[in-house]
Amino acid sequence: MSTFPQPWISTVSHWQGTNRGPGSLWLHNKTGRLPETADIVIVGAGMMGSALSYFLTRPGAHGEGKRIVCLDAKDCGSGASGRNGGHVGPKTYHKWAQLMEPYPTGIGCSEEESTWVFQNERDNLDLVESIIRTEKLDVDFWRGELLETHHSKEQTETCKRQNAAWMKAREAVGLQPNPDTSFIDDPEEAERLSRFKGVTSVHVRPGGSVHSHKLCSALMRLAIESTASDFSFYSWAPVNGFPAATPSGQRVVKTSRGDILTDRVILCTNAHTPNFFSKDDPLHTHIQPLRGQCALITPPPTYSGDQSFKHTYNMVDEHYLVQTPSGGIVLGGGLRALIRDGKVKFEDSYGAVNDSGDSVEPAQTEHLGSFLRDNFVGWGPEGHGEGLTRTWTGILSTVKDWLPLVGDVPGKTGVSMCAGFAGHGMSRIFAVAQGYSDTLKSGTWDAKLLPRSFELTAERLKRTADWQAEYEAAQRSAGRQVDPRLVFEEDKYPTEPTNMVKGDNGAAVEVKIVMTDLRV
Ligand SMILES: Cc1cc2nc3c(=O)[nH]c(=O)nc-3n(C[C@H](O)[C@H](O)[C@H](O)COP(=O)(O)OP(=O)(O)OC[C@H]3O[C@@H](n4cnc5c(N)ncnc54)[C@H](O)[C@@H]3O)c2cc1C
Repeated sequence: MSTFPQPWISTVSHWQGTNRGPGSLWLHNKTGRLPETADIVIVGAGMMGSALSYFLTRPGAHGEGKRIVCLDAKDCGSGASGRNGGHVGPKTYHKWAQLMEPYPTGIGCSEEESTWVFQNERDNLDLVESIIRTEKLDVDFWRGELLETHHSKEQTETCKRQNAAWMKAREAVGLQPNPDTSFIDDPEEAERLSRFKGVTSVHVRPGGSVHSHKLCSALMRLAIESTASDFSFYSWAPVNGFPAATPSGQRVVKTSRGDILTDRVILCTNAHTPNFFSKDDPLHTHIQPLRGQCALITPPPTYSGDQSFKHTYNMVDEHYLVQTPSGGIVLGGGLRALIRDGKVKFEDSYGAVNDSGDSVEPAQTEHLGSFLRDNFVGWGPEGHGEGLTRTWTGILSTVKDWLPLVGDVPGKTGVSMCAGFAGHGMSRIFAVAQGYSDTLKSGTWDAKLLPRSFELTAERLKRTADWQAEYEAAQRSAGRQVDPRLVFEEDKYPTEPTNMVKGDNGAAVEVKIVMTDLRV
Protein backbone atom coordinates (compact mmCIF):
# COMPACT_ATOMS: atom_id res chain seq x y z
CA MET A 1 0.00 0.00 0.00
CA SER A 2 1.30 3.43 -0.88
CA THR A 3 2.26 5.97 1.71
CA PHE A 4 4.05 9.28 1.50
CA PRO A 5 6.78 10.40 1.74
CA GLN A 6 8.11 7.68 -0.52
CA PRO A 7 11.65 6.47 0.17
CA TRP A 8 12.59 6.11 -3.50
CA ILE A 9 13.33 8.38 -6.46
CA SER A 10 10.77 7.86 -9.19
CA THR A 11 11.62 7.16 -12.82
CA VAL A 12 11.30 10.17 -15.12
CA SER A 13 8.94 9.91 -18.07
CA HIS A 14 9.42 11.43 -21.50
CA TRP A 15 6.80 14.04 -20.57
CA GLN A 16 8.35 14.90 -17.22
CA GLY A 17 11.83 15.00 -18.74
CA THR A 18 10.78 17.43 -21.46
CA ASN A 19 8.93 19.91 -19.26
CA ARG A 20 11.62 21.37 -17.03
CA GLY A 21 11.56 24.97 -18.25
CA PRO A 22 10.36 28.11 -16.49
CA GLY A 23 6.67 27.38 -17.24
CA SER A 24 6.77 24.12 -15.29
CA LEU A 25 5.84 23.85 -11.63
CA TRP A 26 8.57 21.64 -10.18
CA LEU A 27 8.96 22.22 -6.42
CA HIS A 28 6.26 24.90 -6.46
CA ASN A 29 5.72 26.14 -2.86
CA LYS A 30 7.76 23.19 -1.62
CA THR A 31 8.66 24.75 1.73
CA GLY A 32 6.93 26.86 4.32
CA ARG A 33 3.77 26.51 6.36
CA LEU A 34 0.41 25.93 4.77
CA PRO A 35 -2.59 28.24 5.28
CA GLU A 36 -4.51 27.35 8.44
CA THR A 37 -7.93 27.52 6.82
CA ALA A 38 -9.46 27.01 3.41
CA ASP A 39 -12.95 26.63 1.98
CA ILE A 40 -11.87 23.67 -0.13
CA VAL A 41 -8.77 21.44 0.00
CA ILE A 42 -8.02 19.37 -3.09
CA VAL A 43 -5.66 16.49 -2.35
CA GLY A 44 -3.62 15.44 -5.40
CA ALA A 45 -2.22 17.49 -8.27
CA GLY A 46 -2.41 14.95 -11.05
CA MET A 47 -4.60 15.62 -14.09
CA MET A 48 -7.72 15.23 -11.93
CA GLY A 49 -6.63 17.66 -9.20
CA SER A 50 -5.29 20.13 -11.78
CA ALA A 51 -8.39 19.99 -14.01
CA LEU A 52 -10.70 20.37 -11.01
CA SER A 53 -8.60 23.29 -9.73
CA TYR A 54 -8.96 24.87 -13.17
CA PHE A 55 -12.74 24.48 -13.34
CA LEU A 56 -13.38 25.57 -9.76
CA THR A 57 -11.40 28.79 -10.21
CA ARG A 58 -13.15 30.04 -13.38
CA PRO A 59 -15.25 33.20 -12.98
CA GLY A 60 -18.76 32.25 -11.86
CA ALA A 61 -17.73 28.74 -10.80
CA HIS A 62 -18.29 27.19 -7.37
CA GLY A 63 -14.85 28.35 -6.19
CA GLU A 64 -15.42 32.04 -7.02
CA GLY A 65 -14.49 34.16 -4.01
CA LYS A 66 -13.36 31.08 -2.08
CA ARG A 67 -9.99 30.08 -0.71
CA ILE A 68 -8.95 26.84 -2.38
CA VAL A 69 -5.76 24.95 -1.56
CA CYS A 70 -4.38 22.06 -3.62
CA LEU A 71 -1.78 19.81 -1.97
CA ASP A 72 0.34 17.10 -3.52
CA ALA A 73 2.62 14.65 -1.78
CA LYS A 74 5.15 15.26 -4.57
CA ASP A 75 5.12 17.52 -7.63
CA CYS A 76 2.30 18.51 -9.96
CA GLY A 77 2.01 15.67 -12.50
CA SER A 78 4.40 13.43 -10.55
CA GLY A 79 1.94 10.50 -10.51
CA ALA A 80 0.23 8.62 -13.34
CA SER A 81 -0.76 11.84 -15.10
CA GLY A 82 2.80 12.87 -15.86
CA ARG A 83 3.96 9.39 -16.79
CA ASN A 84 1.17 7.97 -18.95
CA GLY A 85 0.95 7.29 -22.67
CA GLY A 86 -0.49 10.71 -23.52
CA HIS A 87 -3.36 9.00 -25.36
CA VAL A 88 -6.90 10.31 -25.28
CA GLY A 89 -8.85 7.39 -26.76
CA PRO A 90 -12.62 7.54 -26.22
CA LYS A 91 -14.23 4.13 -26.33
CA THR A 92 -16.68 3.08 -28.97
CA TYR A 93 -17.82 -0.53 -29.12
CA HIS A 94 -15.02 -1.88 -26.92
CA LYS A 95 -16.41 -2.90 -23.52
CA TRP A 96 -19.94 -2.20 -24.79
CA ALA A 97 -21.35 -5.64 -23.94
CA GLN A 98 -19.54 -5.73 -20.62
CA LEU A 99 -20.98 -2.43 -19.51
CA MET A 100 -24.41 -4.05 -19.51
CA GLU A 101 -23.65 -7.44 -18.03
CA PRO A 102 -24.00 -7.81 -14.28
CA TYR A 103 -20.84 -7.57 -12.24
CA PRO A 104 -18.43 -9.31 -11.93
CA THR A 105 -18.45 -10.37 -15.59
CA GLY A 106 -19.74 -6.95 -16.52
CA ILE A 107 -20.43 -3.58 -14.97
CA GLY A 108 -24.20 -3.75 -14.61
CA CYS A 109 -25.31 -0.57 -16.43
CA SER A 110 -28.52 -0.25 -18.42
CA GLU A 111 -28.21 0.17 -22.19
CA GLU A 112 -29.13 3.84 -21.92
CA GLU A 113 -26.61 4.46 -19.15
CA SER A 114 -23.91 2.65 -21.13
CA THR A 115 -24.60 4.97 -24.05
CA TRP A 116 -24.03 8.00 -21.82
CA VAL A 117 -20.85 6.47 -20.39
CA PHE A 118 -19.41 6.24 -23.90
CA GLN A 119 -20.80 9.61 -24.95
CA ASN A 120 -19.10 11.13 -21.93
CA GLU A 121 -15.74 9.97 -23.28
CA ARG A 122 -16.49 11.57 -26.64
CA ASP A 123 -17.55 14.79 -24.91
CA ASN A 124 -14.35 14.62 -22.86
CA LEU A 125 -12.25 14.71 -26.05
CA ASP A 126 -14.18 17.74 -27.34
CA LEU A 127 -13.85 19.38 -23.95
CA VAL A 128 -10.10 18.96 -23.57
CA GLU A 129 -9.64 20.26 -27.12
CA SER A 130 -11.81 23.26 -26.39
CA ILE A 131 -9.95 24.11 -23.15
CA ILE A 132 -6.59 23.86 -24.90
CA ARG A 133 -7.72 26.04 -27.81
CA THR A 134 -9.57 28.60 -25.68
CA GLU A 135 -6.70 28.98 -23.23
CA LYS A 136 -4.14 28.76 -26.06
CA LEU A 137 -2.15 26.10 -24.22
CA ASP A 138 1.13 25.00 -25.76
CA VAL A 139 0.80 21.31 -24.85
CA ASP A 140 1.40 19.45 -28.14
CA PHE A 141 -2.27 18.58 -28.51
CA TRP A 142 -3.14 16.53 -31.58
CA ARG A 143 -6.57 15.35 -32.66
CA GLY A 144 -7.21 12.94 -35.47
CA GLU A 145 -8.00 9.28 -35.98
CA LEU A 146 -7.29 6.39 -33.66
CA LEU A 147 -6.71 3.05 -35.37
CA GLU A 148 -7.71 -0.04 -33.48
CA THR A 149 -6.10 -3.03 -35.10
CA HIS A 150 -7.70 -6.48 -35.03
CA HIS A 151 -5.72 -9.64 -35.33
CA SER A 152 -8.23 -12.42 -35.87
CA LYS A 153 -11.51 -12.95 -37.72
CA GLU A 154 -13.18 -13.40 -34.35
CA GLN A 155 -12.00 -9.99 -33.18
CA THR A 156 -13.25 -8.42 -36.40
CA GLU A 157 -16.68 -10.03 -35.98
CA THR A 158 -16.98 -9.03 -32.32
CA CYS A 159 -16.04 -5.51 -33.14
CA LYS A 160 -18.66 -5.29 -35.89
CA ARG A 161 -21.36 -6.81 -33.72
CA GLN A 162 -20.71 -4.64 -30.69
CA ASN A 163 -20.30 -1.54 -32.77
CA ALA A 164 -23.67 -2.14 -34.47
CA ALA A 165 -25.32 -2.63 -31.06
CA TRP A 166 -23.77 0.58 -29.78
CA MET A 167 -24.94 2.57 -32.84
CA LYS A 168 -28.50 1.28 -32.32
CA ALA A 169 -28.40 2.23 -28.66
CA ARG A 170 -27.21 5.72 -29.58
CA GLU A 171 -30.17 6.19 -31.87
CA ALA A 172 -32.53 4.96 -29.14
CA VAL A 173 -31.48 7.81 -26.84
CA GLY A 174 -31.65 10.39 -29.63
CA LEU A 175 -27.95 10.55 -30.49
CA GLN A 176 -26.83 10.36 -34.09
CA PRO A 177 -25.17 7.08 -35.02
CA ASN A 178 -21.54 8.03 -35.12
CA PRO A 179 -20.56 9.50 -38.44
CA ASP A 180 -16.88 9.48 -37.52
CA THR A 181 -16.19 5.79 -36.98
CA SER A 182 -15.58 3.27 -39.73
CA PHE A 183 -14.34 -0.24 -40.39
CA ILE A 184 -11.83 -1.45 -42.83
CA ASP A 185 -12.36 -5.17 -43.01
CA ASP A 186 -10.39 -5.89 -46.13
CA PRO A 187 -7.14 -7.20 -44.56
CA GLU A 188 -4.95 -5.80 -47.33
CA GLU A 189 -6.41 -2.35 -47.03
CA ALA A 190 -6.28 -2.57 -43.24
CA GLU A 191 -2.57 -3.43 -43.37
CA ARG A 192 -1.88 -0.70 -45.91
CA LEU A 193 -3.49 1.95 -43.71
CA SER A 194 -2.16 0.75 -40.36
CA ARG A 195 1.18 -0.66 -41.57
CA PHE A 196 0.70 -3.31 -38.87
CA LYS A 197 1.66 -6.71 -40.26
CA GLY A 198 -1.13 -9.25 -40.80
CA VAL A 199 -4.09 -7.35 -39.35
CA THR A 200 -7.56 -8.72 -40.15
CA SER A 201 -9.35 -5.38 -39.88
CA VAL A 202 -9.04 -1.87 -38.50
CA HIS A 203 -11.61 0.17 -36.62
CA VAL A 204 -11.14 3.90 -37.18
CA ARG A 205 -12.46 6.36 -34.63
CA PRO A 206 -11.63 9.77 -33.13
CA GLY A 207 -8.63 10.02 -30.85
CA GLY A 208 -6.14 12.50 -29.53
CA SER A 209 -2.79 12.86 -27.86
CA VAL A 210 -1.23 15.46 -25.64
CA HIS A 211 1.93 16.21 -23.68
CA SER A 212 0.35 15.11 -20.42
CA HIS A 213 2.82 16.78 -18.07
CA LYS A 214 2.60 20.11 -19.88
CA LEU A 215 -1.21 19.96 -19.82
CA CYS A 216 -1.36 19.06 -16.12
CA SER A 217 1.01 21.91 -15.22
CA ALA A 218 -0.75 24.39 -17.54
CA LEU A 219 -4.14 23.75 -15.92
CA MET A 220 -2.63 24.13 -12.46
CA ARG A 221 -0.93 27.36 -13.52
CA LEU A 222 -4.23 28.78 -14.79
CA ALA A 223 -5.76 28.01 -11.37
CA ILE A 224 -2.83 29.68 -9.61
CA GLU A 225 -3.25 32.76 -11.80
CA SER A 226 -7.03 32.94 -11.32
CA THR A 227 -8.34 36.25 -10.05
CA ALA A 228 -11.78 34.79 -9.35
CA SER A 229 -10.59 32.59 -6.47
CA ASP A 230 -7.88 32.74 -3.83
CA PHE A 231 -6.12 29.60 -5.03
CA SER A 232 -2.75 28.18 -4.04
CA PHE A 233 -0.88 24.98 -4.81
CA TYR A 234 1.69 23.38 -2.48
CA SER A 235 3.94 20.58 -3.71
CA TRP A 236 5.62 18.11 -1.35
CA ALA A 237 2.82 18.38 1.21
CA PRO A 238 1.60 14.81 1.83
CA VAL A 239 -1.70 14.54 3.64
CA ASN A 240 -1.62 12.11 6.54
CA GLY A 241 -4.71 9.97 7.03
CA PHE A 242 -8.40 10.58 6.55
CA PRO A 243 -9.30 14.18 7.51
CA ALA A 244 -10.95 14.10 10.96
CA ALA A 245 -14.31 15.83 11.58
CA THR A 246 -14.53 18.72 14.06
CA PRO A 247 -17.58 19.20 16.30
CA SER A 248 -18.67 22.06 14.01
CA GLY A 249 -18.72 19.72 10.99
CA GLN A 250 -15.49 20.92 9.36
CA ARG A 251 -12.53 18.69 8.46
CA VAL A 252 -8.90 18.87 9.54
CA VAL A 253 -6.37 18.06 6.83
CA LYS A 254 -3.16 16.96 8.54
CA THR A 255 0.26 17.42 6.98
CA SER A 256 3.80 17.68 8.29
CA ARG A 257 3.72 21.34 7.21
CA GLY A 258 0.71 22.20 9.37
CA ASP A 259 -3.00 21.42 9.50
CA ILE A 260 -5.73 23.03 7.41
CA LEU A 261 -9.26 23.48 8.72
CA THR A 262 -11.71 23.29 5.85
CA ASP A 263 -15.35 22.83 4.86
CA ARG A 264 -14.61 20.35 2.09
CA VAL A 265 -11.83 17.96 1.16
CA ILE A 266 -11.78 16.48 -2.35
CA LEU A 267 -9.56 13.44 -2.79
CA CYS A 268 -8.03 13.37 -6.27
CA THR A 269 -5.56 10.68 -5.32
CA ASN A 270 -6.51 7.91 -7.77
CA ALA A 271 -4.43 4.75 -7.11
CA HIS A 272 -3.38 6.05 -3.68
CA THR A 273 -6.97 6.55 -2.47
CA PRO A 274 -7.10 3.27 -0.46
CA ASN A 275 -4.55 4.82 1.94
CA PHE A 276 -7.24 7.05 3.33
CA PHE A 277 -9.56 4.21 4.30
CA SER A 278 -9.33 1.56 6.98
CA LYS A 279 -9.07 -2.10 6.00
CA ASP A 280 -12.73 -2.79 6.73
CA ASP A 281 -13.95 0.08 4.52
CA PRO A 282 -14.97 -1.03 0.98
CA LEU A 283 -13.02 1.93 -0.40
CA HIS A 284 -9.85 0.29 0.87
CA THR A 285 -10.13 -2.33 -1.85
CA HIS A 286 -12.56 -0.93 -4.44
CA ILE A 287 -9.66 0.96 -5.99
CA GLN A 288 -6.23 -0.70 -6.15
CA PRO A 289 -2.85 0.33 -7.54
CA LEU A 290 -1.31 -1.27 -10.60
CA ARG A 291 2.07 -0.47 -12.09
CA GLY A 292 2.35 0.18 -15.82
CA GLN A 293 5.36 0.87 -18.01
CA CYS A 294 5.81 2.99 -21.14
CA ALA A 295 8.69 3.72 -23.47
CA LEU A 296 9.84 6.43 -25.83
CA ILE A 297 10.88 4.94 -29.16
CA THR A 298 12.97 6.93 -31.59
CA PRO A 299 11.98 5.59 -35.01
CA PRO A 300 14.37 4.99 -37.88
CA PRO A 301 13.91 7.23 -40.96
CA THR A 302 11.38 4.72 -42.38
CA TYR A 303 8.93 5.97 -39.71
CA SER A 304 10.08 9.59 -39.53
CA GLY A 305 9.22 12.77 -41.44
CA ASP A 306 6.47 12.13 -44.00
CA GLN A 307 6.52 8.46 -43.00
CA SER A 308 5.67 9.20 -39.33
CA PHE A 309 2.56 7.66 -37.82
CA LYS A 310 -0.50 9.69 -38.83
CA HIS A 311 -2.76 8.13 -36.21
CA THR A 312 -2.74 6.97 -32.62
CA TYR A 313 -3.11 3.21 -32.13
CA ASN A 314 -4.70 0.55 -29.95
CA MET A 315 -3.20 -2.80 -30.88
CA VAL A 316 -2.86 -6.45 -29.96
CA ASP A 317 -2.38 -7.25 -26.25
CA GLU A 318 -3.41 -3.72 -25.25
CA HIS A 319 -0.43 -2.01 -26.81
CA TYR A 320 -1.04 1.60 -27.68
CA LEU A 321 1.05 4.37 -29.17
CA VAL A 322 1.05 8.06 -29.86
CA GLN A 323 3.30 10.00 -32.19
CA THR A 324 4.85 13.04 -30.49
CA PRO A 325 5.47 16.13 -32.66
CA SER A 326 9.25 15.82 -32.56
CA GLY A 327 10.47 13.46 -29.87
CA GLY A 328 9.45 10.08 -31.24
CA ILE A 329 6.74 7.60 -30.33
CA VAL A 330 5.36 6.88 -26.87
CA LEU A 331 4.45 3.19 -26.62
CA GLY A 332 2.76 1.35 -23.76
CA GLY A 333 1.06 -1.96 -23.08
CA GLY A 334 1.82 -5.64 -23.24
CA LEU A 335 1.78 -6.22 -19.47
CA ARG A 336 -0.89 -8.90 -19.46
CA ALA A 337 0.74 -10.75 -22.34
CA LEU A 338 4.02 -10.74 -20.43
CA ILE A 339 2.25 -12.08 -17.34
CA ARG A 340 0.48 -14.70 -19.48
CA ASP A 341 3.80 -15.78 -20.97
CA GLY A 342 5.42 -15.99 -17.52
CA LYS A 343 7.89 -13.17 -18.22
CA VAL A 344 6.53 -10.78 -15.59
CA LYS A 345 5.10 -11.86 -12.25
CA PHE A 346 1.51 -10.89 -11.70
CA GLU A 347 2.14 -9.81 -8.09
CA ASP A 348 5.04 -7.58 -9.15
CA SER A 349 2.63 -5.27 -10.97
CA TYR A 350 -0.78 -5.65 -9.32
CA GLY A 351 -0.78 -3.80 -6.01
CA ALA A 352 2.65 -2.28 -6.73
CA VAL A 353 3.25 1.37 -5.84
CA ASN A 354 6.99 1.74 -6.38
CA ASP A 355 7.76 3.65 -9.58
CA SER A 356 11.53 3.95 -9.05
CA GLY A 357 14.24 2.68 -11.38
CA ASP A 358 14.07 -0.65 -9.54
CA SER A 359 10.49 -1.06 -10.72
CA VAL A 360 11.41 -1.08 -14.41
CA GLU A 361 10.78 -4.62 -15.66
CA PRO A 362 13.66 -5.80 -17.88
CA ALA A 363 11.28 -8.13 -19.77
CA GLN A 364 8.86 -5.30 -20.47
CA THR A 365 11.69 -3.00 -21.54
CA GLU A 366 12.91 -5.59 -24.00
CA HIS A 367 9.37 -6.19 -25.21
CA LEU A 368 8.57 -2.51 -25.75
CA GLY A 369 11.94 -2.05 -27.44
CA SER A 370 11.20 -4.69 -30.06
CA PHE A 371 7.42 -4.34 -30.50
CA LEU A 372 7.39 -1.75 -33.28
CA ARG A 373 10.36 -3.31 -35.04
CA ASP A 374 8.71 -6.73 -34.98
CA ASN A 375 5.22 -5.69 -36.00
CA PHE A 376 5.34 -2.76 -38.37
CA VAL A 377 5.90 -3.21 -42.08
CA GLY A 378 9.29 -1.97 -43.28
CA TRP A 379 10.44 -0.61 -39.91
CA GLY A 380 14.03 -1.42 -40.92
CA PRO A 381 17.25 -1.47 -38.94
CA GLU A 382 17.73 0.89 -36.02
CA GLY A 383 20.92 2.91 -35.69
CA HIS A 384 22.61 3.66 -32.38
CA GLY A 385 20.30 6.19 -30.67
CA GLU A 386 17.21 4.89 -32.45
CA GLY A 387 14.79 2.38 -30.93
CA LEU A 388 14.00 2.42 -27.21
CA THR A 389 15.33 5.71 -25.90
CA ARG A 390 13.73 5.99 -22.47
CA THR A 391 11.43 3.86 -20.33
CA TRP A 392 9.52 4.60 -17.15
CA THR A 393 6.89 3.20 -14.84
CA GLY A 394 3.80 4.73 -13.25
CA ILE A 395 1.00 3.75 -10.90
CA LEU A 396 -2.49 3.61 -12.32
CA SER A 397 -5.58 2.23 -10.64
CA THR A 398 -7.77 -0.81 -11.06
CA VAL A 399 -11.39 -0.25 -10.11
CA LYS A 400 -13.69 -3.10 -9.20
CA ASP A 401 -16.52 -1.82 -11.35
CA TRP A 402 -14.37 0.06 -13.89
CA LEU A 403 -16.18 3.39 -13.59
CA PRO A 404 -14.80 6.48 -11.79
CA LEU A 405 -15.95 7.22 -8.25
CA VAL A 406 -17.24 10.78 -8.04
CA GLY A 407 -18.98 12.63 -5.21
CA ASP A 408 -19.43 12.51 -1.45
CA VAL A 409 -17.80 9.72 0.50
CA PRO A 410 -20.75 7.89 2.09
CA GLY A 411 -21.14 8.77 5.76
CA LYS A 412 -18.29 11.32 5.76
CA THR A 413 -19.75 14.80 5.50
CA GLY A 414 -17.39 17.28 3.89
CA VAL A 415 -15.21 14.70 2.13
CA SER A 416 -15.65 13.77 -1.52
CA MET A 417 -13.56 12.23 -4.25
CA CYS A 418 -12.93 12.14 -7.98
CA ALA A 419 -10.84 9.00 -8.34
CA GLY A 420 -10.63 5.55 -9.87
CA PHE A 421 -9.84 6.05 -13.54
CA ALA A 422 -8.95 2.43 -14.25
CA GLY A 423 -6.04 3.23 -16.55
CA HIS A 424 -8.27 5.39 -18.75
CA GLY A 425 -8.18 8.80 -17.09
CA MET A 426 -7.34 10.91 -20.11
CA SER A 427 -10.71 9.97 -21.59
CA ARG A 428 -12.65 10.87 -18.48
CA ILE A 429 -10.97 13.39 -16.23
CA PHE A 430 -11.84 16.64 -18.02
CA ALA A 431 -15.55 15.78 -18.21
CA VAL A 432 -15.52 14.63 -14.59
CA ALA A 433 -13.79 17.85 -13.50
CA GLN A 434 -16.29 20.03 -15.32
CA GLY A 435 -19.27 17.94 -14.22
CA TYR A 436 -18.23 17.75 -10.58
CA SER A 437 -17.40 21.45 -10.41
CA ASP A 438 -20.91 22.20 -11.77
CA THR A 439 -22.47 19.71 -9.37
CA LEU A 440 -20.82 21.46 -6.42
CA LYS A 441 -22.21 24.78 -7.59
CA SER A 442 -25.77 23.69 -8.33
CA GLY A 443 -26.07 21.04 -5.63
CA THR A 444 -27.66 18.70 -8.17
CA TRP A 445 -26.15 15.97 -10.27
CA ASP A 446 -26.29 16.76 -13.99
CA ALA A 447 -26.50 13.35 -15.64
CA LYS A 448 -25.72 14.85 -19.07
CA LEU A 449 -22.32 16.01 -17.81
CA LEU A 450 -21.68 13.13 -15.43
CA PRO A 451 -23.20 9.68 -16.01
CA ARG A 452 -25.15 8.57 -12.94
CA SER A 453 -23.12 5.38 -12.74
CA PHE A 454 -20.02 7.43 -11.81
CA GLU A 455 -21.62 8.48 -8.54
CA LEU A 456 -19.99 7.18 -5.38
CA THR A 457 -22.78 5.71 -3.27
CA ALA A 458 -22.92 3.26 -0.38
CA GLU A 459 -25.27 1.15 -2.50
CA ARG A 460 -22.72 0.95 -5.33
CA LEU A 461 -19.94 -0.12 -2.98
CA LYS A 462 -22.14 -2.71 -1.30
CA ARG A 463 -23.41 -4.12 -4.57
CA THR A 464 -19.86 -4.55 -5.81
CA ALA A 465 -18.70 -6.14 -2.55
CA ASP A 466 -21.69 -8.53 -2.52
CA TRP A 467 -21.16 -9.52 -6.14
CA GLN A 468 -17.51 -10.09 -5.55
CA ALA A 469 -18.19 -12.25 -2.48
CA GLU A 470 -20.58 -14.41 -4.53
CA TYR A 471 -18.09 -14.65 -7.35
CA GLU A 472 -15.25 -15.63 -5.06
CA ALA A 473 -17.37 -18.28 -3.38
CA ALA A 474 -18.26 -19.75 -6.78
CA GLN A 475 -14.62 -19.73 -7.89
CA ARG A 476 -13.43 -21.37 -4.70
CA SER A 477 -16.02 -24.10 -4.94
CA ALA A 478 -14.79 -24.71 -8.51
CA GLY A 479 -11.28 -25.16 -7.10
CA ARG A 480 -9.93 -21.88 -8.42
CA GLN A 481 -7.66 -19.52 -6.60
CA VAL A 482 -9.02 -16.00 -6.15
CA ASP A 483 -7.06 -12.86 -5.46
CA PRO A 484 -9.50 -10.57 -3.59
CA ARG A 485 -7.98 -7.49 -5.22
CA LEU A 486 -9.06 -8.61 -8.63
CA VAL A 487 -11.98 -9.72 -10.68
CA PHE A 488 -11.60 -12.34 -13.34
CA GLU A 489 -13.83 -13.20 -16.20
CA GLU A 490 -13.97 -16.03 -18.64
CA ASP A 491 -13.04 -14.95 -22.12
CA LYS A 492 -16.33 -14.21 -23.79
CA TYR A 493 -15.30 -11.18 -25.76
CA PRO A 494 -12.36 -11.86 -28.00
CA THR A 495 -11.40 -8.20 -28.21
CA GLU A 496 -10.52 -8.38 -24.52
CA PRO A 497 -7.17 -9.66 -23.38
CA THR A 498 -6.90 -12.99 -21.67
CA ASN A 499 -4.63 -14.29 -18.98
CA MET A 500 -3.56 -17.73 -18.00
CA VAL A 501 -3.51 -18.15 -14.25
CA LYS A 502 -3.06 -21.22 -12.12
CA GLY A 503 -6.09 -22.62 -10.34
CA ASP A 504 -5.72 -24.23 -6.90
CA ASN A 505 -5.37 -27.62 -8.51
CA GLY A 506 -2.38 -26.33 -10.49
CA ALA A 507 -4.17 -26.44 -13.84
CA ALA A 508 -3.98 -23.41 -16.07
CA VAL A 509 -7.27 -21.56 -16.26
CA GLU A 510 -7.91 -18.97 -18.91
CA VAL A 511 -9.40 -15.89 -17.32
CA LYS A 512 -9.68 -12.24 -17.98
CA ILE A 513 -9.14 -9.23 -15.78
CA VAL A 514 -11.79 -6.79 -16.86
CA MET A 515 -11.76 -3.92 -14.51
CA THR A 516 -8.63 -2.16 -15.60
CA ASP A 517 -8.23 -0.62 -18.94
CA LEU A 518 -4.77 -1.08 -20.24
CA ARG A 519 -6.08 -0.48 -23.75
CA VAL A 520 -6.21 3.28 -23.41
C1 LIG B 1 2.30 4.00 -17.48
C2 LIG B 1 0.91 4.56 -17.62
C3 LIG B 1 0.37 4.79 -18.87
C4 LIG B 1 -0.92 5.32 -18.99
N1 LIG B 1 -1.38 5.66 -20.23
C5 LIG B 1 -2.59 6.27 -20.34
C6 LIG B 1 -3.02 6.77 -21.59
O1 LIG B 1 -2.29 6.78 -22.58
N2 LIG B 1 -4.29 7.26 -21.67
C7 LIG B 1 -5.13 7.30 -20.57
O2 LIG B 1 -6.29 7.69 -20.71
N3 LIG B 1 -4.69 6.92 -19.37
C8 LIG B 1 -3.44 6.42 -19.23
N4 LIG B 1 -2.99 6.07 -18.01
C9 LIG B 1 -3.86 6.32 -16.85
C10 LIG B 1 -3.89 7.81 -16.50
O3 LIG B 1 -2.58 8.30 -16.46
C11 LIG B 1 -4.61 8.00 -15.17
O4 LIG B 1 -5.93 7.50 -15.30
C12 LIG B 1 -4.68 9.45 -14.77
O5 LIG B 1 -3.45 10.08 -14.89
C13 LIG B 1 -5.18 9.57 -13.33
O6 LIG B 1 -5.06 10.92 -12.95
P1 LIG B 1 -5.22 11.33 -11.44
O7 LIG B 1 -4.96 12.77 -11.33
O8 LIG B 1 -6.50 10.80 -10.94
O9 LIG B 1 -4.07 10.47 -10.70
P2 LIG B 1 -2.51 10.79 -10.50
O10 LIG B 1 -1.93 11.42 -11.70
O11 LIG B 1 -1.89 9.54 -10.02
O12 LIG B 1 -2.52 11.87 -9.36
C14 LIG B 1 -2.79 11.56 -8.02
C15 LIG B 1 -1.93 12.52 -7.20
O13 LIG B 1 -2.30 12.38 -5.83
C16 LIG B 1 -1.14 12.58 -5.05
N5 LIG B 1 -1.37 12.00 -3.73
C17 LIG B 1 -1.66 10.72 -3.43
N6 LIG B 1 -1.77 10.55 -2.10
C18 LIG B 1 -1.56 11.78 -1.54
C19 LIG B 1 -1.52 12.25 -0.20
N7 LIG B 1 -1.70 11.43 0.83
N8 LIG B 1 -1.27 13.57 0.01
C20 LIG B 1 -1.08 14.42 -1.05
N9 LIG B 1 -1.07 14.00 -2.33
C21 LIG B 1 -1.31 12.69 -2.58
C22 LIG B 1 -0.05 11.86 -5.85
O14 LIG B 1 1.24 12.32 -5.51
C23 LIG B 1 -0.45 12.19 -7.29
O15 LIG B 1 0.24 13.31 -7.80
C24 LIG B 1 -1.69 5.58 -17.83
C25 LIG B 1 -1.14 5.38 -16.57
C26 LIG B 1 0.16 4.90 -16.46
C27 LIG B 1 0.75 4.73 -15.09
